[in-house]
Amino acid sequence: MDLGFLLHSLIPSWNSVAILATFFAYLAIVGSILPGKVVPGVVLQDGSRLHYRCNGLLSLLVLVGLLGIGAKMDYISPTAISDRGLELLSATFVFSFLVTLVLYAAGCKSRNQGSSLKPHFTGNLIQDWWFGIQLNPQFLGIDLKFFFVRAGMMGWLLINLSVLARSIQDATVSRSIILYQLFSVLYILDYFVYEEYMTSTWDIIAERLGFMLVFGDLVWIPFTFSIQGWWLLSNKPELTTAAVIANCFVFLMGYMVFRGANKQKHIFKKNPKALIWGMPPKVIGGKLLASGFWGVARHCNYLGDLLLALSFSLPCGISSPIPYFYPIYLLILLIWRERRDEARCAIKYKEVWAEYCKLVPWRILPYFY
Ligand code: NDP
Repeated sequence: MDLGFLLHSLIPSWNSVAILATFFAYLAIVGSILPGKVVPGVVLQDGSRLHYRCNGLLSLLVLVGLLGIGAKMDYISPTAISDRGLELLSATFVFSFLVTLVLYAAGCKSRNQGSSLKPHFTGNLIQDWWFGIQLNPQFLGIDLKFFFVRAGMMGWLLINLSVLARSIQDATVSRSIILYQLFSVLYILDYFVYEEYMTSTWDIIAERLGFMLVFGDLVWIPFTFSIQGWWLLSNKPELTTAAVIANCFVFLMGYMVFRGANKQKHIFKKNPKALIWGMPPKVIGGKLLASGFWGVARHCNYLGDLLLALSFSLPCGISSPIPYFYPIYLLILLIWRERRDEARCAIKYKEVWAEYCKLVPWRILPYFY
């Protein structure tokens, strides 16, 4: 690809802006009108709670259905996204930049003292814009943090489907493409089936909404998590049957640990007496779960996520490091995040946390880290 073409492709076109605007408008409308379980968020410092309507799965299925019908009737091209990958990437980047400037300005003007909207300043403009000023800013009654992460996960699926449509049109569908597509669609659907679990994650409860999070949700998730799909458009690794079986095994193990650990914590928070692996839970200080996956390592859920990330890249073989971008990035992110989360928990739970660390010495991978 020559430099001139690359630079030209990076300029957001009106088409890419229209695709993005339609996508956001669709999400805003269906997010407000489609039915879904309304889940209370965690109790905030001032005792208040936000409520989240978890209708992401229905919104996604309706969207994919509408796009399928549109493609069948020749109203839209199934490769519209894969034909404009770079343009869409730059349009989304520009949008993230602009929206975080607005968030910064709105945060500065806010006089609200509630936990969700209270402005937090360091006085450093770059830092405040990067990390955000408010915890849960809203627009037209929409919780923007929940909205952006939903948009990012759906965007990842839409990119994958469009890339798949391109391979079908080019008649290049291979075992590798099927595996990558299958694993990522299962992961994304699982995310939406368990969307309510998102309401108690670090991003939602602890991170303010600034460029870091908006860029992460809207640009990073859809455009970097799909690198394997793009890479497979022009590379054809040969996978043996044994490699396919091993790859499925890594995916299943990862899924079991990832979903199992997140589910156990969620159930424990709702009902600290609920059985874990069929037995009464081991609880420390009445607050921390120390059995099940949470008795194996203090962040077993991160281990599961890392195995899943690896399983998305293994279909690409080992001829290039490019498809391994996601698991390598995730490894760095989750080690960093685990350290920050531990520091937060040590302050919040004090001696109870110290006791937990003594009982469960491993951070992520038992006997290794
Ligand atoms: P966790 O879901 O692990 O949440 C951490 C919080 O859980 C702690 O702050 C504490 O919160 C509570 N907690 C910790 N240990 C215990 C325990 N033993 N018993 C009870 N409560 C406990 O972290 P994240 O929100 O970071 O991650 C959620 C999921 O999202 C993970 O599976 C992760 O892999 C995934 N993720 C994926 C990313 C990606 O890019 N693919 C990026 C980031 C996360 P409290 O104060 O409420 O008790």
